[in-house]
Amino acid sequence: MRERAAAYGAALPGLDTHSLMSGLEGIQLTFMPMGDRDGAYDPEHHVILINSQVRPERQRFTLAHEISHALLLGDDDLLSDLHDEYEGDRLEEVIETLCNVGAATLLMPQALVTEVLTRFGPTGRALAELARRADVSASTAAIRLAEETTAPVLYAVCAVTKVETEAGAGNETPGKALTVRASSAAPGVKYSLRTGTVIPDGHPAAVALDTHLPISEASFVPFRSGRKMPAQVDAYPERQRVMVSFLLGAKESGEKA
Ligand SMILES: [Zn+2]
Repeated sequence: MRERAAAYGAALPGLDTHSLMSGLEGIQLTFMPMGDRDGAYDPEHHVILINSQVRPERQRFTLAHEISHALLLGDDDLLSDLHDEYEGDRLEEVIETLCNVGAATLLMPQALVTEVLTRFGPTGRALAELARRADVSASTAAIRLAEETTAPVLYAVCAVTKVETEAGAGNETPGKALTVRASSAAPGVKYSLRTGTVIPDGHPAAVALDTHLPISEASFVPFRSGRKMPAQVDAYPERQRVMVSFLLGAKESGEKA
C-alpha cells in the first residue's frame, strides 16, 4: 500500500485537492454533509464523497484515504492477497488500516519527511513543520514522523484543555491544564504518553506555551503514573498548542515498561 500510494503521489503535479484527484481517471469528487461519516468511495458510481462538515485538514486526510481505497481496488494482486489472508470484519479492519497508511504516505511522502528530519532533527519543531507543510493534523504528522525516526523519541501534541477536578474536591468548575492530545513513539520505544496526561507547570512544554518561545533542554517525560523519565525535551509552541519531542536515553528506551 505504501509503495502503491508513493508511486501514485510521485506522478501527481502537486498534493492540493485538485492534483490529488488528477491521478484517478473518471472519478468524481463530491463534498456534502455526511453526518458521522468522514467520507466514502463508491466504485459503482465512480465517486468519492467527502463530509464537508468536518475540519479541512480532516477532509484532506479523508480524501487521501478514499483515494487509497480506489488504488487498492485497482490492485488485483494486493486485493487477492488480502482476501486470502483475512475475511469478514477483520478484512474490513485491515483494509481501513491500509488506507490510512496509504493516505499518510500520499500526504507525507518519504522525501518530505526525510527533509524535515534532516533539517530539524527529531524535534517538536520538525513535527510542527511536517504538519504545516503536508497540511495534515499534528497527530497524523506525529505518527508518520515517529515511523521514520531512528532515535529513541516520543512525540507529543499538547494543548490546554479542560480537566475534570477530583470528585469531592469541592470544586464544581472544571480547571484547565496543558495536556497531551496525541502522542507517537519511534520504533523500539516501549513507552507511550496517554492522551489526557497533564504536563506539569514548569516543564519546558508549559514554559514554551507561556512564553511563545521554543525551548530545548534536559528535562523529563511526565508519565501519568507520576514517573519522571529523564529526556532531552524540545518544545515548539504553535498558536494554542505545543509540539514536543522527548529524546530518551539509550537505557530508558530499551527498558521494559
Ligand atoms: Zn475507508
